Amino acid sequence: MNLLEINHVEKAFDGLGVLKDISLTVGEGEIVSIIGPSGSGKSTLLRCATMLETMDSGEVIYLGKKAAWTGADGKAVYAGKKELREIQSQYGLVFQNFNLFPHYSVMKNITDAPIHVQKREKEIVYREARELLRKMGLEDKENAYPCQLSGGQCQRVAIARALALNPKILFFDEPTSALDPELTGEVLKVIKSLADLDIAMVIVTHEMAFARDISDRVIFMADGVIVEQGTPEQVFASDNERTQSFLGRYG
Ligand code: ADP
Ligand code: MG
Repeated sequence: MNLLEINHVEKAFDGLGVLKDISLTVGEGEIVSIIGPSGSGKSTLLRCATMLETMDSGEVIYLGKKAAWTGADGKAVYAGKKELREIQSQYGLVFQNFNLFPHYSVMKNITDAPIHVQKREKEIVYREARELLRKMGLEDKENAYPCQLSGGQCQRVAIARALALNPKILFFDEPTSALDPELTGEVLKVIKSLADLDIAMVIVTHEMAFARDISDRVIFMADGVIVEQGTPEQVFASDNERTQSFLGRYG
């Protein structure tokens, strides 16, 4: 069964179509990169897939459970609160700007939701958080506050925070685009190290070499549509004119 299935999703802002009949699937453990020009709808797609944004119509299905679908009146209908909470516990999100709580320590940023939302045992959550920090190369930062960290360190904390929820799927929206170039590498390396954890990842990125290297599948979006998708080899060697013209800019 697919972890995530998106069928015919439509979304417009002020009458302007931003997502036009978008369909895609993500399998267990699969790594999918989404590339495409600015304004093509990549963030809106992630936001609709994770219910941070309402879609106009279409279907969003996690492990066979419908989170949203098109109702009889043609408009989107969402599952009830309880079902949605269960569905939402299956994924984590990492944003461009980290979105850490500035007044929480690194440790509290990571452990707060597992303890207070998932109601998991404190001792275990702390132990797992320390293990995650070690994996992120941040073992000495658990008492630091976000303002004391570099952007690359903040993003690694944000990744640890998402992982602490034990998600089946992690969404990244341009995880390195707010970082200085010298800090980008450390974050990409950490994301790459997750590839063998058997967590599915959907990564919106402008790092073409990274996308090519890490992905099982690459999706190229432009103007609210999926222009094409395939293995990195297929997409990066595509003779599609729009794909070529986009990739050419990254020469
Ligand atoms: P990308 O992430 O590919 O750069 P976005 O999904 O952010 O693209 O945006 C796609 C289009 O939707 C853009 O034209 C953007 O201006 C528009 N858009 C995104 N969010 C909103 C919003 N909340 N209100 C109005 N327009 C929006
Ligand atoms: Mg975006």
